[in-house]
Amino acid sequence: MERGRRGRLSGRHSGARLRDFSHRQTLVAAAGSIPCDAGPVETRATRHASAGRLVAGVAQRVGIRGQLLPFRAEAILSQHSCISFLGTFIMTTPSAAEEVIAHHEELDLYPEIPLADDPRFTAKGIPTIEVPSAGPRPMARYAGSVQLVYPTADRRFSMRVKGHYANGYPVGAVVHSTEGRSKKGDIDAENTITGTGIPNGHCYFCISSTGKVYQPFLLDSWGIHCGKTYHPDLGFALDNKLVGIEVCCAGIVKKVADDRYHPGWSETFTEAEVRYRDKTENIQKAGHYHQFNAAQEKALFDLLIWLKTNNPLVFKLEHVFGHDEIATNAPQGQPGDKTLGRKQDPGGSLSMFMKDLRAKLLAAMPSG
Ligand SMILES: [Zn+2]
Repeated sequence: MERGRRGRLSGRHSGARLRDFSHRQTLVAAAGSIPCDAGPVETRATRHASAGRLVAGVAQRVGIRGQLLPFRAEAILSQHSCISFLGTFIMTTPSAAEEVIAHHEELDLYPEIPLADDPRFTAKGIPTIEVPSAGPRPMARYAGSVQLVYPTADRRFSMRVKGHYANGYPVGAVVHSTEGRSKKGDIDAENTITGTGIPNGHCYFCISSTGKVYQPFLLDSWGIHCGKTYHPDLGFALDNKLVGIEVCCAGIVKKVADDRYHPGWSETFTEAEVRYRDKTENIQKAGHYHQFNAAQEKALFDLLIWLKTNNPLVFKLEHVFGHDEIATNAPQGQPGDKTLGRKQDPGGSLSMFMKDLRAKLLAAMPSG
């Protein structure tokens, strides 16, 4: 079995065996993500070759035996510039191979494993691959039809992940506000992701002020977003159990004049854009909060419902928390490790208390 050097995509076909397509498999495998800039349109052959390499690598890594239907590239590419197979997305760009090499660690791909390379891959048709079992990764993580990417998400960015959830999926979510700029719409979300999120090694969904959802990671992987945290049901340090959802919003603002509120920077909000909340329920600090707008609240609600319906056995709506409900003053084992107050988001930015959001989410689910 010939292996490519670590960090390089091997062009060699070794343990993998290509066969003519025979029948569909109902298998979902791991995938990586690659920033998806628009670029010169690839040839179909290049796309198929890229997809084939990725699929072969992923399949072997997760220890899939047997045949795979590699991808449904055509339809997906036209919509999202990404390559998909069996419900799992592999983002690609015209230079997919080079990007995988450059990003393979954050992509959670192992480009050093043997990769299929066969003229039939670059020709018409969809071949299947037979790959030897390799690696201990449990298949149960990919059982069923769980998707790792929110269908309408913007996937242009890539945030650092630190590991895989125990069940391959978050058991709940944390609602945050970015406590930053939001007035310029999507660009503010993108600047938050690239300007503070990525440099600080954070990982989260981000909802812009237009309601656009960004997902710079895959849902089986966790990263930093909530830090020192505790919940009686889930324990301490919940980054590796709950997925973060940041909503672009200024958070707490100060009244500087009638109908005029300021955060700590050059944005101004009117009375209609803010909400006063006393310190009660999940609100940790009384004051005026810049409100999530209607598009953001709808996007947040829809995303949470999708997270639940996409993997109902693992994700619990009862485990949708505000950062303010779980952020503690100290890490586990130190005084204050269960004392809240370190964070005030979402606080009064959300139009309801967190307990009411949970009730509304649960009420929206079909009974039984
Ligand atoms: Zn937060």
